Amino acid sequence: MFHRSGLILALVLVCGGAAHAQSPGPQPLAMPAAIPAPQDVAYPGVIRLEVDATDLERRIFNVRETISVAGPGPLTLLYPQWLPGNHGPYGQADKLAGLVIKAGGQRLAWTRDPVSVFAFHVDVPAGASALDLEFQFLSAVESSQGRVMMTPEMLNVQWNTVVLYPAGYFARQIPVAASVRLPDGWQFATSLDTASTNGAVSTFKATSLDTLVDSPMFAGRHFMKVDLTPGTSGPGNVSLNIVADRAALLEAKPEHIAAHRALVTQAAKLYGSRHYDRYNFLLALTDQLGGIGLEHHQSSENGTVPDYFTEWDKHAGVRDLLPHEYTHSWNGKFRRGADLWTPNFNVLMQDSLLWVYEGQTQYWGVVLAARSGLIKKQEALDSIAATAATFDVRVGRAWKALQDTTNDPLTIARRATAWRSWQRGEDYYQEGQLMWLEADTLIREKSGGKKSLDDFAKGFFGINNTSFVPVTYAFDDVVKALNNVQPHDWAAFLRERLDATNGKAPLDGLARGGYKLVYTDTPTDFFKAVETQQKSVNLTYSLGLTIGREARLTAVQWDGLAFQKGLTVGTQIVAVNGMAYEADRIKDAIKDAQKNATPIDLIVKKDDRFWSVRFDYRGGLRYPRLERVAKTPARLDQILAAR
Ligand SMILES: [Zn+2]
Repeated sequence: MFHRSGLILALVLVCGGAAHAQSPGPQPLAMPAAIPAPQDVAYPGVIRLEVDATDLERRIFNVRETISVAGPGPLTLLYPQWLPGNHGPYGQADKLAGLVIKAGGQRLAWTRDPVSVFAFHVDVPAGASALDLEFQFLSAVESSQGRVMMTPEMLNVQWNTVVLYPAGYFARQIPVAASVRLPDGWQFATSLDTASTNGAVSTFKATSLDTLVDSPMFAGRHFMKVDLTPGTSGPGNVSLNIVADRAALLEAKPEHIAAHRALVTQAAKLYGSRHYDRYNFLLALTDQLGGIGLEHHQSSENGTVPDYFTEWDKHAGVRDLLPHEYTHSWNGKFRRGADLWTPNFNVLMQDSLLWVYEGQTQYWGVVLAARSGLIKKQEALDSIAATAATFDVRVGRAWKALQDTTNDPLTIARRATAWRSWQRGEDYYQEGQLMWLEADTLIREKSGGKKSLDDFAKGFFGINNTSFVPVTYAFDDVVKALNNVQPHDWAAFLRERLDATNGKAPLDGLARGGYKLVYTDTPTDFFKAVETQQKSVNLTYSLGLTIGREARLTAVQWDGLAFQKGLTVGTQIVAVNGMAYEADRIKDAIKDAQKNATPIDLIVKKDDRFWSVRFDYRGGLRYPRLERVAKTPARLDQILAAR
C-alpha cells in the first residue's frame, strides 16, 4: 500500500472541520494528490534502456530510455528510492541530472512531485506511443559525495540508478530491455542473460524491472572469472567474477580458490537447495571504487581490500563477506520479512525482522567462512570473541532494545555517531549473531546433538528448491519453524532477547558451546589483524577508547574511563607521560601503570584546546578471547567444522 499520512489528515480536516472551533494560527494545506499505488497488473508496454558507461574520466553514466505508453494523459515516473538490501530510502536522486523528456521529438515539461521528490509528473500528448528520456547518473567523484561507482579501472552499474519507471505497477510487471556500452576491452559480469554483443555494446534479454534491479554489473579493465562449480556449466553454476585496481591483484592461489569452491558446497549442504539459476559473485578488489556488500538472488556485489588474495593472511577479518552475501540468496532475498517486501522501489519498507534477515546471515557468514576454510577455526573463535566482547560492554542495551535497533537504517542511516556504544547502530547484525548462537547450542543441547540450527536453515530457507520467487514470513513463522526442529518456548526465547532493556548480552551460546569469554593482556591474531586493517589501536576494554589515524579517537565507550574524563570522538592524543604519542607508548604506559602503580598522563587536544588527563587505572591491557571450558561439550567446534 502506498501510504501518505498527510492525505488522511487533509480528509479529517475537510470532514470534521465544521464540528470544531479552529484554534488561532495557520492550518495545514491539503497534500498533493497521491502517487498511483502499484497494482499487480502487467504494464502495457516495455522500457528500453541504454546506458553508456564509457565516460571514465568524469565518471558519468549517460542514459537514454524509451518508455512505451498506452495513451495520452498524466503519467508519473519514479526514480527508485527504497532499495532492496539497503533496508531504507537510499536511492540517490541528487545524482540524477540533465533530465529531458520528449515525445515524437517534442520536448515535454516535467515537474517533480513536491512531496514524493523521487516522482516526476509529465503529460503524455495525444498520439504519442512512447516517451524518450535522456539523463545522466553522476557518480560521486569523491567519497564525501557518496559511493564512487566508476573509476578508470572498473565500474558498477546498479540499474536502479539509471532507470525511471512508470508509477502504478508492481516492479515484476514492468518489462525492461537493457543494454550497456562499456569502455573498449573491458569485461563484465552480471546475472542478466546476454542477448547479443556488438563491439563494446552488450544487450540483455528483456526481463522484469524487479529482476533487472536485482542484477547489477561489475565491469573492469582487469578482470578474472573463476568457475566455482566446475562441471556445472548450466543451472546451479556459481562463478567468482573479480575486477581489481591492478592486474597483479588477481593472483589468487589454488588454495584460495579451493576455499571459495568449498563455500558453495558447504552452503549446499546447509540449505539443501538453491534459489538461483546461475550465481555470480561480483568481487571488486579496490581502494578506489566505493566499498559494498549487497545481496541479490543470483549475484552479490562485494567490494573489499585490494590485497584480498595477495596478502591473504592479513585479511581473515573480511573473509566472511562472501559467505554473508551468498547466504542472503536464501535468507533475505528468497525468504524475506513480510513487512520488508515491497511491490516497487518507491513504497516504504519496514525492518522489524532484520534480526533474522541480517542477524542469522551474520551467524551463517562466520560459520560458513569457517566450514569452507576461508578462515581458520581459531580465526572464527577469535572473531566470535571480538563480537561477544563488543556486546558484553554495549551499554546502550540499558535503554534501547535489540528490536528497536531494526529502526536504525532509518534513524541513524549509517552516519558516524558520537556514542556508538550508547546509541547502538544496526546491532541486529552482530547481537543477532550471538542470539542465533544461543539458539543453535540450545537446539543441540535439548536434542542431545541430533538437531541443530542447520535443520532450521534447511527447513526455513531451503524450501522451493530452484525457485527465486520470494516467500515472505512473520515472527510466528520463525517460531513455528524453530519448533519443528526442536520444541521449546521459542516465542519467549526470542522476545526476551529482542525486547529486553536491562538484560545482559546474549552470551549463553558461548558456555553451551564449551567456551567462555575472557580478557587477557595480549590480543588474538584476529584482533591484531583487524586493528592493522583499520589502522586503529583498540583499548576499549582498558581505557574505554579506540585510537585511529593521527592519534584521533574514533570511539569512546559510554560510561568508560575515557568518557569519565570527558574525552570524545575526535579528541587527539598528543602525548603520553610527557612523550609524543605513539601506539606502543600508550600500551607501555598501561602496562607500567599496572606493574608500578603509576598514573597514565595524557595531553589531549580537541579543536584549539589542549589539556591534560590523568588515568589512575591499574587493570593493564585487556583483550577478549575465548577460552575452552574443560569437560564441557565443544558444541562450537562442531558448529564450525566442515560438513
Ligand atoms: Zn547482510
